[in-house]
Amino acid sequence: MRELRDYDVQVFIDGRFERPEAGDGIPVLDKSAGVPFGTYGNASPAQVDRAVAAARRAQPGWAQVDANTRSAIIRRFAAELENRRDELLTLLIRETGGTLEKAEEELGQSITQLENSATQLTENAGSILPPYKSGKLSLSRAVPLGVIGLIVPWNYPMSLAMRALAPGLAYGNAVVLKPAELTPIAGGQILAEAALAAGVPAGVFAVVPGDGPTTGRTLSEHPDLDLIHFTGSFEVGHQIANFAARSFRPVATELGGDNAFVVLDDADIDQAASCAVWSSLWYQGQTCITAGRHIVHRDVAAAFTDAVVERVRALRVGDPLRDDVDLGPIISETQLRRFADGLVRPSIAAGATVAVGGDHDGLFYQPTVLTGVTPDMPVFTEEIFGPVMPITVVDSEAEALALVNRHRTLMNSVFTGDPMRGLAFAEQVKSNEVHVNDGYARHGGEGQLAGFTHRQWIGIQTTPVRYPAWAE
Ligand code: NAD
Repeated sequence: MRELRDYDVQVFIDGRFERPEAGDGIPVLDKSAGVPFGTYGNASPAQVDRAVAAARRAQPGWAQVDANTRSAIIRRFAAELENRRDELLTLLIRETGGTLEKAEEELGQSITQLENSATQLTENAGSILPPYKSGKLSLSRAVPLGVIGLIVPWNYPMSLAMRALAPGLAYGNAVVLKPAELTPIAGGQILAEAALAAGVPAGVFAVVPGDGPTTGRTLSEHPDLDLIHFTGSFEVGHQIANFAARSFRPVATELGGDNAFVVLDDADIDQAASCAVWSSLWYQGQTCITAGRHIVHRDVAAAFTDAVVERVRALRVGDPLRDDVDLGPIISETQLRRFADGLVRPSIAAGATVAVGGDHDGLFYQPTVLTGVTPDMPVFTEEIFGPVMPITVVDSEAEALALVNRHRTLMNSVFTGDPMRGLAFAEQVKSNEVHVNDGYARHGGEGQLAGFTHRQWIGIQTTPVRYPAWAE
């Protein structure tokens, strides 16, 4: 089943592949074996420019393609990925270091995104507004934004690209994608090949691989984009949003969060422990909605910690191409050093205790539980983005809530034996997503018309109007 092959990532502009001009032959590593299984290069500023220019030329024609035809092309894009399922699962395992389960989720979401977008584009292109005066028909028409610059991170290279690419293309935009330098194959080359094979017209979709400072920055600051859509770290997102604000350019950012997992004194401890382990350690904790801080009531802290440690001790770390492995490698040495040396070590120096884990063999980091964590320690104040579970004990629900809300979060969980208590807690949490007695979740596939179109109001006066006498 596991076909192994090498890949040559190229720049994809105006329907054609070409060599990267700003440095070529950079290895793409199999994250477990540490050996190259492909190469990529940096698209030059001139190539980014040509990609945007081709997208600008192609976009109006794409927006005019009738909805059924556009929908059929998007569906063929999904089918192209589906037809390469076995190959792509192996590729995702090797390129991201995730397990087969993670690869299946990512490929499945990517295909579903395309299929949902193909359906949604045929369903709704706007609405009729209530009449505000006699004889006036008012249409609210969804109009494509134009050309979208899309920058994505390495943790879900394919599905995070697809989150914007699928609805972006479906609603008649052109998209210029810059994949992450650690994952340019699944996040770029494969998508270009599939789009080409599916019949996405030349220019409508471009891929400009490369590093952040060279290619990413050029794309994010390109003057001829109608939207820059960025997923990644707070720091880079902040820079991009700053630039966009100065140039009055719309920007969409999906950034990191320091998410919390709360266990109240009446929680089912077995359930909470299993969910915490899953929510914190899925894909080595390298997900934006990973549960980071565990905030646990004192009455259940010992039982919760024991239950978590027992589960974590049983986890098997290794090459996820093997069936008997639960956690793969950390994506890179830089990322491992960032949390191991930058967050875990200083927290231990400040008094946290390693209950299990704490060491690593190369990029294979043992899942780690830290106890005695106080709210001023780096593992509590920063997003960890690694397989580390810090446990902080509190004396009341109010204290737990205050600690959750002290940080910028994306998703939080609360465990309690009383769902109404959970609901009341969730209502006071300041984040877009809160789960009661559950954790780590998938993103929903709701309609995305609003994010990738703007509204144009067209008013049609169907009966003659008397204007004020002074105007007639
Ligand atoms: P990152 O910000 O370092 O990189 C993300 C992308 O930005 C990459 O393609 C990179 O090449 C590019 N980039 C880097 N510097 C740039 C610059 N100056 N100008 C333009 N582009 C530049 O993030 P990362 O380390 O790849 O990803 C991890 C982060 O992403 C975490 O904080 C995580 O929480 C966040 N994330 C958020 C979501 C979400 O949906 N909210 C999803 C996944 C990851």
